[in-house]
Amino acid sequence: MNTSPTLPPLRDVLAAHGLDPRKALGQNFLLDLNLTGKIARQAQVSSQDVVVEIGPGPGGLTRALLQEGAAKVIAIEKDPRCLPALAEISAAFPGRLDVIEGDALQCDLADLAGGPFKVVANLPYNVGTQILLDLLTVADWPPLWTSLTLMFQKEVALRIVAGADDAHYGRLGVLCGWRCDARILFDLPPQAFTPPPKVTSAVVQLVPRQQPLQANLATLEKVTAAAFGQRRKMLRQSLKSLGGENLLKLVGIDPQRRAETLSVAEFVSLANAL
Ligand code: SAM
Repeated sequence: MNTSPTLPPLRDVLAAHGLDPRKALGQNFLLDLNLTGKIARQAQVSSQDVVVEIGPGPGGLTRALLQEGAAKVIAIEKDPRCLPALAEISAAFPGRLDVIEGDALQCDLADLAGGPFKVVANLPYNVGTQILLDLLTVADWPPLWTSLTLMFQKEVALRIVAGADDAHYGRLGVLCGWRCDARILFDLPPQAFTPPPKVTSAVVQLVPRQQPLQANLATLEKVTAAAFGQRRKMLRQSLKSLGGENLLKLVGIDPQRRAETLSVAEFVSLANAL
């Protein structure tokens, strides 16, 4: 995909607006439009879509989402220095980009979108995990969001998509696997970013399951917290405070098993028995 003819290269945008990357805001920019285009294409953005982008920065991914044809992009950016660069993109795509200055963690994304929406973002990793948890733990399911395409540290991406018998499997994997189909789309090496972070990154896509197994979220979280809190111990020990052996026998799970061997469905049946 080519840069829109009316918009300057992103390196020029950084220079023109004095956007020296700030570590405190997790600013590792993607300036390669082939990569931003790849993310937007894999997010399968179409002319029907409202996309919420968190942390647009100088707007490389924002441009790609608009060029892919998103009906509307709602971009939430905490750093006011980025607003003039984003205003230029807004002018190049009239009526299709709303920029909101603020902290995405304080925003109700569904409220902003006002209907079904996709989330696409390259954002700081700590913010990413919290945003993901907030979107996964909404009360009503299926949620208003129809997919999440998010950049994570590779290690976190592996935890998101992990299932039973995987060393990366834990609370996050159970929650994601319970409510979503999650997969890693592709990895990005540190050099893909300006400045390069220390670790490899990966783009993860989550699509909500329309009918996840019935479970109470708080109880499920209680069980996974206890089980993985002592992941090397047998379940009869790690789940002792929740009923231990009795609870496990009730649902036909061998008390000598360890947390990481349990499928999502087994965690759900434990939560329901509790
Ligand atoms: N999307 C741009 C790109 O791919 O080049 C920028 C990515 S950079 C990793 C993360 C962006 O998120 C920065 O622009 C930063 O200012 C912004 N940001 C950091 N914390 C934020 C928050 N809590 N809410 C909204 N934006 C935030």
